[in-house]
Amino acid sequence: MSSPIIVNSRSYQMPAAPTIVVCVDGCEQEYINQAILAGAAPFLARLADTGTVLTGDCVLPSFTNPNNLSIVTGAPPSVHGICGNFFFDEDTRTEVLMNDPKYLRAPTLLAEMARAGQRVAVVTAKDKLRALLGHGLHGICFSAEKADQLDIEVHGVTGMIERTGMALPSVYSAELSEFVFAAGLSLLQHERPDLMYLSTTDYVQHKHAPGTPEANAFYAMMDRYFAQYHDAGAVLAITADHGMNAKTDALGRPRIVFLQDRLDARFGADAARVILPITDPYVVHHGALGSYATVYLGERAPQRDVTEFLGGLAGVSAVLTRAQACERFELPPDRIGDLVVLGERLTVLGSAAHKHDLSGLTVPLRSHGGASEQQVPLLFNRKLSGIDPSRRLRNFDAFDLALNHLA
Ligand code: ZN
Ligand code: ZN
Repeated sequence: MSSPIIVNSRSYQMPAAPTIVVCVDGCEQEYINQAILAGAAPFLARLADTGTVLTGDCVLPSFTNPNNLSIVTGAPPSVHGICGNFFFDEDTRTEVLMNDPKYLRAPTLLAEMARAGQRVAVVTAKDKLRALLGHGLHGICFSAEKADQLDIEVHGVTGMIERTGMALPSVYSAELSEFVFAAGLSLLQHERPDLMYLSTTDYVQHKHAPGTPEANAFYAMMDRYFAQYHDAGAVLAITADHGMNAKTDALGRPRIVFLQDRLDARFGADAARVILPITDPYVVHHGALGSYATVYLGERAPQRDVTEFLGGLAGVSAVLTRAQACERFELPPDRIGDLVVLGERLTVLGSAAHKHDLSGLTVPLRSHGGASEQQVPLLFNRKLSGIDPSRRLRNFDAFDLALNHLA
């Protein structure tokens, strides 16, 4: 067996069998519970006996990019630098999109494993993650969203539409995630990568609560692929980037605190600037509303006064200074504001009401971002050993557990 490699100060054994880590976007644990109760997920139901079932904490903000990057680097945002889709550049006074790999401050385990001679493949649902996940990677890396535009030089593979037998899915569909699994199965059967990372989209979870027919059908689909990966001899680790909760009142109406409006009314227009790092080009299903915001303060908005004001608003669960947030959530201080604000479980934080287009919300709002969406599954199709029971497990321990703790 070849010697382990060190990535971001952590040691990893080489894969003993094809190893697949799946990030099920927005996989609140109750989705799996309910699918099992409905008899829709027989493979997952057996894992308590045949594998290992654990729970871990994701990183805050409980958003997609910070957590996907944490999983593939094995490290929190303070190390890899990606703490949302946006940050505010105080030098240029502009909001900067963080989708570009130039903002990544750490190598991924995927790239380092490939450098060590392992065959590595990455399939992501949305193309926005592809460049970050594939940074420095010599291997296969593509998105379901653009699976019809594959170039062997860029993506390491072509012909996935033909190989999966699926039509190119819409970016807002359950099929976008299904394509990821179908492509993963085809790669496992033909290229048989040593290490594979599959990352879905939370379109279904934003629209459908645990136990609904649509959610159960989605988990049944995944369960069938997991069983096939298992039967093909793969080591399988399943985790999530974050959970998902309803963000509504008893009548299904969204509960929103529009922070920018509240701050403008109290401290004067633009005395403070609210940044919502969930904002991205695909906002239809959540209206850019999540339970996390960061605030940049100007002279007219003293930190102590703003902290006290925001902390007193109904629906706000915590207001932390930059230093407190960086220590508690392992965030990069230069990419968050002076304050970090978390919403309560049933509440999302908005900017100014007029900036949010809620016309795409055809069903009661479900979203994430706060501490209430931090607990995620860590499921394995093998028995693991040598895990310190007092250790706080994280979703970004998925590769460590799968590679270093096989019984
Ligand atoms: Zn997500
Ligand atoms: Zn989401």
